[in-house]
Amino acid sequence: MKPRVVILGGGFAGLAAARELDSRHDVTLIDRGAHFEYLPNLHELVSRSKKPRSLRLSRERLVARRGHTFLRAEVVAIDPERRRVRTSDGAELAYDALVVATGSAFSSRGVPGVAEHGLPLRSIADGVEIGARLKRLADGGGSRAVTIVGGGFTGVECLGEILRRYRQHRGLAIRVIEPRHRLLAGQPRVVDQALRAVIEECDVELFFDESVARLERGRIELASGSWLRTDLTIWTAGGGPSPLLAKAGLAAAGEWAPVFRTLQSRAYDDILIAGDSAELRRPVSKQSYQATAMGRRAGKNAARLLAGEKLKKHEPEEEQLLITFGYLTGFYIDDDMVIEGAALCLARELLFQAGMAELDRPRRAGARRRLLTRLRDAARFGALPPPLLSMAPYPFGRPPRDRFDLPSLPRVLKWRGAGSDLEAAEASAETLGRLGPAAGERGAGVLRLLGPRLVT
Ligand SMILES: Cc1cc2nc3c(=O)[nH]c(=O)nc-3n(C[C@H](O)[C@H](O)[C@H](O)COP(=O)(O)OP(=O)(O)OC[C@H]3O[C@@H](n4cnc5c(N)ncnc54)[C@H](O)[C@@H]3O)c2cc1C
Repeated sequence: MKPRVVILGGGFAGLAAARELDSRHDVTLIDRGAHFEYLPNLHELVSRSKKPRSLRLSRERLVARRGHTFLRAEVVAIDPERRRVRTSDGAELAYDALVVATGSAFSSRGVPGVAEHGLPLRSIADGVEIGARLKRLADGGGSRAVTIVGGGFTGVECLGEILRRYRQHRGLAIRVIEPRHRLLAGQPRVVDQALRAVIEECDVELFFDESVARLERGRIELASGSWLRTDLTIWTAGGGPSPLLAKAGLAAAGEWAPVFRTLQSRAYDDILIAGDSAELRRPVSKQSYQATAMGRRAGKNAARLLAGEKLKKHEPEEEQLLITFGYLTGFYIDDDMVIEGAALCLARELLFQAGMAELDRPRRAGARRRLLTRLRDAARFGALPPPLLSMAPYPFGRPPRDRFDLPSLPRVLKWRGAGSDLEAAEASAETLGRLGPAAGERGAGVLRLLGPRLVT
């Protein structure tokens, strides 16, 4: 009998782990959803600039390609002593090695009314719902209030998408409530300053050092005691660990699961934990590229564990961030430098296309067709950023409505070693010089994968 590997969760980490295992193992990947959803670009559903089909892939198909089994089920318990997982319909699956990649779970942070009156942005269905509700409010006339709770990555990217579509709609009053004293609080201060400069031009009300005490139908009570009227409340104020981790004894209640550098659980050495769920001694950011890298290591180490070989340590990826704010602006952030500019939104689109193509390797006709559909969706007239359209010749071009509809050059906001503007400019050119060929290479990779139909 082949050794049995169960992978719990089919997101970035779980799918990466599955790709590392082959027919020597009997692999079952379990997820509650039939489709993998590309979470980093969910916010583009809010402005309806991406179509839901562009962001999802069938898990069954991805997993079957490696000869593995996909089981659509909700896992309700892990029993590490008996090496079994139990699903909500009472079925039990035995394993010899388990990879836990359950990501993060929705959290209301204990605020009453969030489940009933707040819309999260954690799935394609959520993004579609927010996009449709915004459209109804905008089309309905009158004066309407839209509230985003949380000024972290999701809140900021969601706000950018709302402004992409509705910044000139006078009937929508948009506000953000953030408990800390700036946006993207974990990032360099210059990012908050640059964002606020853009947001000020778009007439958004920002509430800092303020949190939500309760949500009711049509209104929000703030911790400071005042009430705000709201017609749509988008709740981006946080995700937390899946309760399954603590229930299985893999983590303390409300905590992420601690792991060794081999990604083995600190509680059970036949359980590997990857992606957002895992907490290394030196934590890495909860980002898709880190989750993918951990998933790959967890898959390889599961195979080594079953073969009785020594496990290898995980080497985290270098931390870097690419954040978009609609097409209005974007930020590249790493340890040394912060660059701002709308052109970075194109780099982000390229990363998305490359990421989806890597997951759905277009070797077969079906996968090539899906890639072409995604590229066609991205090149739709309505999806193209106006700075591109403003440069297009008649009759394709569109006149700019404001400065955000015009192309602009990226600029360096911060460089660790910058002694002068000239040095900063040189460092920026060098970084863009590095990013350009890397992005080009990935883009060319996508086109090559399409085969001779596109590239001669
Ligand atoms: C709105 C949003 C925007 C983001 N933007 C970015 C970004 O711009 N850049 C970036 O790098 N990262 C971004 N992230 C973070 C990134 O998506 C995560 O770091 C990444 O998805 C983590 O991968 P994972 O495999 O650990 O978990 P996930 O991708 O969350 O996958 C976990 C899977 O486990 C399944 N699951 C969980 N519990 C159970 C259960 N009990 N039974 C069955 N199935 C279960 C879930 O259905 C899910 O499919 C964003 C996340 C969100 C929500």
